Amino acid sequence: MKKLGIIFFTILLSIGCQKKENQSVRTIIEEEQNILIGINYPVTKSKKLNKIIQKEVHTQYNSFKEKYMNFNSLNQKSELNIDYSFDKVKEYDIVTIHTYLNSSKFYQPQNYIKTYVYHKKKKRLISLKDVIPKEDLSYITKYVKHILQQKYNISNKNIQKYIKNNHSAYSNFTFDQDYLYLYFDQFQNIKNIIKIQIPLENLNPKIDTEQQIIKTANTKVKIPNKILDPNKKFIALTFDDGPSIYTKEVINILKKYNCNATFFVLGNKVEIYQETIRESLKNGNELGNHSYSHKWLIKLDEESLKEQIDKTQDIIQETTGYTPKLLRPTYGSVNQKIRNLDQFEIILWNVDTLDWKYKSIDRIVSRATKNPKDGNIILMHDIHQRTVKALDKIIPILQNQGFELITISEMKEIQLLRDKMKTD
Ligand code: ZN
Repeated sequence: MKKLGIIFFTILLSIGCQKKENQSVRTIIEEEQNILIGINYPVTKSKKLNKIIQKEVHTQYNSFKEKYMNFNSLNQKSELNIDYSFDKVKEYDIVTIHTYLNSSKFYQPQNYIKTYVYHKKKKRLISLKDVIPKEDLSYITKYVKHILQQKYNISNKNIQKYIKNNHSAYSNFTFDQDYLYLYFDQFQNIKNIIKIQIPLENLNPKIDTEQQIIKTANTKVKIPNKILDPNKKFIALTFDDGPSIYTKEVINILKKYNCNATFFVLGNKVEIYQETIRESLKNGNELGNHSYSHKWLIKLDEESLKEQIDKTQDIIQETTGYTPKLLRPTYGSVNQKIRNLDQFEIILWNVDTLDWKYKSIDRIVSRATKNPKDGNIILMHDIHQRTVKALDKIIPILQNQGFELITISEMKEIQLLRDKMKTD
């Protein structure tokens, strides 16, 4: 008991304000014939942990591609989505990797979880046995069995089978100042991951649960006002799947040429790049919603769809005070459920740079600048270095042909002004 007390007591002392932007997220978004891939995973300060996570993600990515690239059933696509959480609890970096697989090969989407509790000083992953004394493990087993039977209706036989099949039944665990969390996937008939929380005080009643949380200041970002001349020609640049480590460079290039763009962001990244998106708005750029973790929205039920959208709205509002009014659905696919989200205007594009696919900067530049027309909406992704480099060439080419680069909402305003001019 004493060991646990010391470990979790030190955890308590660490809870507080953590600046998020010293960490980053890697994103892989791909769309090919039969497969859709949306992956976000964290990059921490621990190189060894990063290697472990990267290896896991790439193993999943490769085996998914191998299995489904040529799997073609009734022209159905297969989807791999990987989302994550990352928490720092005193000397531990705690990462969960959540995999969601959706394919017509399955009756229902599949969910898998992997957790990593990494001790920063010892530079190694720790197991539950490292932090929980033996005598508590039997209590945990009883507790877990009780919850699985009562809440999830899983029979004792199935629980035994699960424990037998899984090398360690408690390999997936995390904790915070109040609870120990255990995760279970692949239980028959259970669609989602089961997360069981055990109050730490049940394990060691001596733990002081008082905590100190300092919230970051929530000041509203002031967005500048611009005057636009409807007689000019306009193009809207749009960036999806960010923010990322490259977004600040994109913002700086836009600033250099005195123009603006619209960023369709992922909620799970806004939290990490808070400063970046505040800076983006301050400079007159616009933010739109592109879901939380890039799940293929048309495949979700209403509840999951709402979760993907609302979580993103909330985090943008909390960070900037701004409420997005534009939605860009993932993979550009729209259905009635998405159209019914009436707080949004759905924005697609008519010029695709394919910057996620083409490695050549010149090729991206030529796709963006070929045949420019007033009212064009160009699609790019601020998660690639090459996109930043291409942007620095694209803007002057378009500006030299007399185009002004503005946000989507500004484009809408121009349209209204022009309509008004026609009727006057
Ligand atoms: Zn996207």
